[in-house]
Amino acid sequence: MEKLLQDLPLARFAVDRFAQLRAEPTWLERLWAAPTTRVLIIREGTLPVTDEVSLIWVKPESVDVRLADIADFSYLLGATEEHTYMAISDKNIEVDGATWVSLRDTGAHFSAHDVGLATTATALASWHRTHVHCTRCGMQTHVIGAGWSRKCPIDSSEHYPRTEPAMIVAVEDAEGRILLGRRKEWTPGWYSTLAGFVEAGESSEACVIREVFEESGVHLDPTSLRYLGSQPWPFPASLMLAYRATAITTDIVVEEAEMADVRWFSREHFIRDCNMQTLRLPGPTTIAFHLIQDWFGEPVPSEWTRA
Ligand SMILES: [Zn+2]
Repeated sequence: MEKLLQDLPLARFAVDRFAQLRAEPTWLERLWAAPTTRVLIIREGTLPVTDEVSLIWVKPESVDVRLADIADFSYLLGATEEHTYMAISDKNIEVDGATWVSLRDTGAHFSAHDVGLATTATALASWHRTHVHCTRCGMQTHVIGAGWSRKCPIDSSEHYPRTEPAMIVAVEDAEGRILLGRRKEWTPGWYSTLAGFVEAGESSEACVIREVFEESGVHLDPTSLRYLGSQPWPFPASLMLAYRATAITTDIVVEEAEMADVRWFSREHFIRDCNMQTLRLPGPTTIAFHLIQDWFGEPVPSEWTRA
């Protein structure tokens, strides 16, 4: 059995989610009054940090809002023995000394304690921002369950955050070359492992085989698929399932609708192109970076990634 990828940046979670408090209707009032509560402010998907690696957690008394104004924008994140953590998604709240960064760019630098909470907060804020109406009747829903669901006032239906499974795969050929592709909208030189969303009624393994063939024309050996782990990717709602697989054909037919280029890289060409910066790899927060590093077999220098 192949070893799973370790310490995937956004998969780290060191804090209990404290789900038993979600059913408590007065959770927000209780937390707001407690001296042990710590609050993370989210501004349109960005997070406040001091030095690019430390999230700024504030106490409720330092947040200048009325509880009635934030009831639909507050989420319970989790608890340790010392603190209970919540998030407020509000672009108008000031945080002293903050630089605002995206989890996508910075998540790999956060501690395990902070990153799990920040990933959860980002996922919830993103879902609430785009799911304000009932999917049955169209009425505006309201937040229940301490930010973990929404309820329709007309038909009482409850709605939960959706996670969309997507697969991503490091494809190798018999010579040990890796298959990397470039989407049309990417800056020239940017390449990554192939990826795609799992379709309705499809297994993730079938998705790996289908997407690789669609994007590159390469056939995989179905018995070669090895699951290497997953991490949430809440931009807006994905769960990335990582695989490694071996190709049984090597001729490439680039899917022209989405892909600008797909090609094989030998280890020698990979190093040469990275050094020349004609090949730029995904950043260290992505699971693609860790898949590529797993293939490379040693730490990938940060200069080789998209800064
Ligand atoms: Zn409804």
